[in-house]
Amino acid sequence: MSPLPAAVCPPVRVLMGPGPSDIHPRVLRAMSANTVGHLDPYYLRVMDEMQAMLRTLFRTENRMTMAISATGSAGMEATVVNLIEPGDSMIVCKNGVFGMRMADVAERAGAQVTCVERPWGEVFTPGDLKDALAKAKPKVVGIVMAETSTGAWQPLEEIATLVHDAGALLLVDAVTSLGGVPVEVDAWGIDAIYSGTQKCLSCPPGLAPVSFNDRALDVVMNRKTKVQSWYLDVTMLANYWGSDRVYHHTAPINMTYGLHEALRVILEEGLEACFARHALNHQALKAGLSAMGIGFAAQEGHQLPMLNAVTVPEGIDDAAVRGGLLNNFGIEIGAGLGAFKGKVWRIGLMGHASRANNVLLLLGALDELLAEQGHKFDSGAGVAAASQAYRAAT
Ligand SMILES: *Cc1c(COP(=O)(O)O)cnc(C)c1O
Repeated sequence: MSPLPAAVCPPVRVLMGPGPSDIHPRVLRAMSANTVGHLDPYYLRVMDEMQAMLRTLFRTENRMTMAISATGSAGMEATVVNLIEPGDSMIVCKNGVFGMRMADVAERAGAQVTCVERPWGEVFTPGDLKDALAKAKPKVVGIVMAETSTGAWQPLEEIATLVHDAGALLLVDAVTSLGGVPVEVDAWGIDAIYSGTQKCLSCPPGLAPVSFNDRALDVVMNRKTKVQSWYLDVTMLANYWGSDRVYHHTAPINMTYGLHEALRVILEEGLEACFARHALNHQALKAGLSAMGIGFAAQEGHQLPMLNAVTVPEGIDDAAVRGGLLNNFGIEIGAGLGAFKGKVWRIGLMGHASRANNVLLLLGALDELLAEQGHKFDSGAGVAAASQAYRAAT
């Protein structure tokens, strides 16, 4: 081929969008270690350790806790296709893009899907589900804990009780929540859960941590039909991740090194300290944005610390600001999706990206770009308010 394309040499970015988020340098180093075979005793040990650390992060004793070899959406697909057989009733809670995606996945798996809806930016209360549970008598209820398209933080404890009282299994999307806020799989009684590596785990996209409890596994083991997906069939994956180590597919060895190191980084910091860091950086960003006249799109009291969906001020060109951030400052933030297209910016403070320097850099950059566009605000007030929030916390 001539001319030969240049070697990959990506620009350095600050990833403050809805994912992927900034990768921890230790994770990138771990991923460049030499590849061993996927049945090598060394690799099997790394897998075992990674599973044990995932259990700590999910706060579960579930034996069936592992990582699907694909991104978060495959975690969604894996949990749904294993629990659902054609004709089964499933309720999906829809208040943003990822609830919509789960409903689509469930329909494709042959479920009779009942959608319960809330406006974008709002969360569900148990009362929103009561009628649907009585009417649909679902086998599974699917809900998104951290709706990345709206920045809404869904409480799960009471809903879990209600779902179990109705005899259904609770399936939770924890792609964005895991590693940023507490996720209590056993204490809340979550039956099946999935996540992804590229949000709060500070790891590149490529693996989807999942966990099934015994109640969910019973359902899988007693299916009348084969799981529709060969690749995602947990009964087969169990033989590879369990003590038998039967070849199923070639595990992405170096991705596993990366997730192993990412989990070590989180557990070294400590879960409570990690959640507190996410909360503090969110508060500082919120104080700063508020001083600049920028408000939040998600319901007050239910705003995610790692995904700040904020309203684009009147008269400001959404795309021009995002372009300015990227081109002039190397900062990536996300655009609004669906109902929020053109109206919302999605500012991620996920994992390694959740740091004071990123918050202050973004506020300073926004100050300049908004002033250029004639936004009326007190220049400098954003950075000052965020700094004040940091000082108040020490
Ligand atoms: C990102 C995301 C997904 C999908 O994960 P991919 O890694 O993009 O496949 C699913 N659910 C939520 C809530 C997400 O934020």
